Amino acid sequence: MIREIRLWPDPVLAQVCEPVGAVNQHVRALADDMLETMYAAKGRGLAAPQVGVPLRLFVMDCGWKEGDRAPQVMVNPEIVEASAERAAGLEGCLSIPGITAEVERAAEVTMRWTGLDGSLFAGRFSGFEAIAAQHERDHLDGIVTLDRVSPEVRARLETEYRACRSGPS
Ligand code: ZN
Repeated sequence: MIREIRLWPDPVLAQVCEPVGAVNQHVRALADDMLETMYAAKGRGLAAPQVGVPLRLFVMDCGWKEGDRAPQVMVNPEIVEASAERAAGLEGCLSIPGITAEVERAAEVTMRWTGLDGSLFAGRFSGFEAIAAQHERDHLDGIVTLDRVSPEVRARLETEYRACRSGPS
């Protein structure tokens, strides 16, 4: 089921999310819905608070527009190691449509998470996947791209965003 994507500044996007308890049928149904919603919105990542559910869970699939779908679901994800090397890239967000922000992040991260079968996973991510994983992980702490840029850039992006929200569509 496609769920409604909450748009910034919806307060749910600024909330620190609660850990997921048991990975049960409700969590699996939520993850399914989030993937369906992400693909329908032509996104590469979506966190639970973006569909109004303040739980520590996100989905991502960075390469589906160029190849086969490879959906990833991360429950209670943690970044256990981040490279000292940084990389800056332009990031969009399904909750801040029309806006891209240049954000600097670790170039590589090691993540640990629980999968939909309840078992623990760890993986090292680089390139676009590292960026996406950190972007989605931020959502679980109520952080969006606008919180990761300078006050001057933020003011400009907020003005742009308000203009495109209120202008003719
Ligand atoms: Zn986002």
